[in-house]
Amino acid sequence: VISPTRRGIRRADRWGSGEFLAPRKNHRHRGVDFICTPGQTVVAPVDGVLKREARPYLREDYSGCLIESPNYVLKMFYLRLDEHLLNKLPTTVCKGQALGTAQDISKKYPGMIPHIHLEFVLVNPEIFLNLP
Ligand SMILES: [Zn+2]
Repeated sequence: VISPTRRGIRRADRWGSGEFLAPRKNHRHRGVDFICTPGQTVVAPVDGVLKREARPYLREDYSGCLIESPNYVLKMFYLRLDEHLLNKLPTTVCKGQALGTAQDISKKYPGMIPHIHLEFVLVNPEIFLNLP
């Protein structure tokens, strides 16, 4: 897996940390946040199939995507997929391939470091298994 923004993890701002399982009000953070500059290109973190757009919030302009590969399914939020990809879903993508443009989540949460949220929604336990 590579960083979808080519930058590191959001550590702490007034809203908390972008690390995995960082505390939130009523739950814990289920993904990892990669610092971005709004408007920058976001790339595929893995090889896989770009299945569809994903919506982090109802009735808001933020969007994202769902990528499926043989051993996991992941979601990314706060990017706008490129039109040419949207028009041919589902489509194969390669690690490092441009997917779209970073949105500015600090407009919704003032003071938050702009970032791309990356979350593995399904993982094949076999990849961690070490059988004799
Ligand atoms: Zn996040």
